[in-house]
Amino acid sequence: MAQLDIRKFESKRLRLYTDIDPAIAERLPPIVDQAYEAWEAYFGPLPPNREGSEYQITGYLMKDESLFERAKLVPKDLPKIEHGRHRGARFWMNDQKYDYYRRHLMLHEATHCFMTTLPEMRGPVWYFEGMAELFATHRVDASGRVTFRVMPHEKSRFAGWGRISLVQKDVAKHGPRSADQVTRAPRIGSGQAVDYAWWWALCKFLDSHPRYRDRFRQIGRHLGEEPFEVLFRRYFDDVLSELWTEWPLFATGIEYGYDFQRAAVAFRTGTPLVGP
Ligand SMILES: [Zn+2]
Repeated sequence: MAQLDIRKFESKRLRLYTDIDPAIAERLPPIVDQAYEAWEAYFGPLPPNREGSEYQITGYLMKDESLFERAKLVPKDLPKIEHGRHRGARFWMNDQKYDYYRRHLMLHEATHCFMTTLPEMRGPVWYFEGMAELFATHRVDASGRVTFRVMPHEKSRFAGWGRISLVQKDVAKHGPRSADQVTRAPRIGSGQAVDYAWWWALCKFLDSHPRYRDRFRQIGRHLGEEPFEVLFRRYFDDVLSELWTEWPLFATGIEYGYDFQRAAVAFRTGTPLVGP
């Protein structure tokens, strides 16, 4: 493999094969190790696998895809890789122009790998893709410590991502997507960039809003125990009308550094005035 200039970079949770600049590549696997801790903290630990070995993802990050094809590292039946693809504990992705978005896409695909390993993971596409986007949206500090599920605060630090702009433009053209529109599966294929932007926005809203975040988290904890719709109803039935009232406020007000705490609406049940 070495003669084809594909090199291997490995950490506990990721074995990465790539032909990109080694100085960039070597920093990637440790990020997936940190993500693994974040996934376990959020979804709960994975059951031990049959071999009793540690969970490790294999990733292929490709600048020149033909090198990987010649080395037979891309299955022939894999659908065309536009940005990234995953299958079981493996993913394939094309190299990206921006450092931020390269890491983002890697984390998106790696989150899919983890989530599909959860027992009987079944869920709607908005949740599966939205959660991959949620965990992929990250910040790295100077020491290399990664924070996941962040609200992007500044456009330049999230180069190549663009989800907020996509939602803003779509709202300007068509208005905010309704509950039904945003949770509906795409009619054809796996969805457009704008669909991913909306799925991220919905998961980010549910994950951050003070009234919904604990409920939303419970769904992540109990995935696979019951059909997703049953879980969702269990944790959201009594707040559905507030939820879908507040959602369009978020969707129309979305911006870098959006403050969920400050934007939360205080709903009060009407108390009849007691006269003297
Ligand atoms: Zn995806």
